[in-house]
Amino acid sequence: DLDPSIKIAVIGNGSIGKSSLIRRFCRNEYVENYKKTIGVEYAEREVEVPGEGDVRVMVWDTAGQEEFIKMTQEYYKDADAIILAFSTTDRTSFDTLLKWRAKVQEVCDDIPMVLVQNKIDLVHEGVVGQGEAEALARDMRIRFYRVSVKEGINVDEVFIYLSQLHFQR
Ligand code: GDP
Ligand code: MG
Repeated sequence: DLDPSIKIAVIGNGSIGKSSLIRRFCRNEYVENYKKTIGVEYAEREVEVPGEGDVRVMVWDTAGQEEFIKMTQEYYKDADAIILAFSTTDRTSFDTLLKWRAKVQEVCDDIPMVLVQNKIDLVHEGVVGQGEAEALARDMRIRFYRVSVKEGINVDEVFIYLSQLHFQR
């Protein structure tokens, strides 16, 4: 009678809001100057997924060496699904997405993924066009979500969507 569970890894450059995304999803909290993640962090939440009932969502967050894309792939090789994330205000975080995806594909085959643009509340300072982000998602053949962790926009939707993809495989 254990609930079904899913392991999700959040991947992308530093400072784009990965830890904040997880904190918002798991605890519905947002902190403006949250400390830099050290090592790998973990959090979980029970969420209702249409068609699946209650699902235990376990989320892994990375950090530290993330900017160098050298971290171990250990933590996402057991993932069931991947959130590939970038920030509206960080061009490099967008330009690095293909490298992140390649790293994932070295260790996970055919894993459900989603593209997340965080910090859409800062769209007036945006350095990534909506069209180019949509085009990248199309090329990757994955769904694209525009999110503001700060405002709490589209956060649960991302996790619920990935859970549905995983359980419907
Ligand atoms: P990480 O390094 O990818 O884990 O990023 P953090 O979660 O530590 O966030 C880096 C900074 O971005 C923090 O100061 C957050 O408060 C801020 N941040 C995270 N999400 C948002 C968002 O949706 N909007 C805005 N404006 N800032 C955000
Ligand atoms: Mg972090």
